[in-house]
Amino acid sequence: MLVPKQKPKAIITDVDSTLTERTTWYELTERLGGSSYAHADLFAKFLRGEISFHQVKKDLFKIWNANGPVHRDKLIEIFENIPLRGEAFSLINQLQEDGYTLCLISGSIDMFVTQIAKKFKINHHYGNSIFHFDEDGYWVELDYSQDEELLKMEQFNDFLEKTGFKEDECIAIGDGDNDRKMFGRVPGIIVNPKSDHLKELAWQEVKFLPRVLQLLESIQ
Ligand SMILES: [Mg+2]
Repeated sequence: MLVPKQKPKAIITDVDSTLTERTTWYELTERLGGSSYAHADLFAKFLRGEISFHQVKKDLFKIWNANGPVHRDKLIEIFENIPLRGEAFSLINQLQEDGYTLCLISGSIDMFVTQIAKKFKINHHYGNSIFHFDEDGYWVELDYSQDEELLKMEQFNDFLEKTGFKEDECIAIGDGDNDRKMFGRVPGIIVNPKSDHLKELAWQEVKFLPRVLQLLESIQ
């Protein structure tokens, strides 16, 4: 477990199940009229090595397109309506007011992460799945990096390089297994833990986001 040695300057936060209540992927599937259980089942099969990623994608597109092809505008509308935790707004606003640099590093959908970043004027943001559209604006493909933890590390390195912050000037907030490597590099605050592995690595644990502010204040 890493402990902060000085007041941090940058806060790196996960998005899904940290700032949102639920996984964005399942929200998306349901809002397109599909079953999040069928979606979860496909992904579990993939993780167990029973089906290829190519096959998962093919089956998922069938679920997503069950009510017809999905246009970019529809996705934008869906992402705008996916709720953040009520306390996420006040946390982000307060952190910005207090002068922290924020960075979103998420294994979630890049379009969604970008929309949150725009809403809060967060300059540094990284997602994972990149969506591709045909010339009429219909969603036809997605790129997904299967090693979410490794991708998060590459994105964190990019953030450090761009901003000039050192690792010991950062604190991370997250909830799940894909935050483990991050918590291995900077002190981590775990939100509503679902991952016991991450819990072991966390500096602190919070149930509600505003507690993060108190923890940051407590650092000498
Ligand atoms: Mg998460």
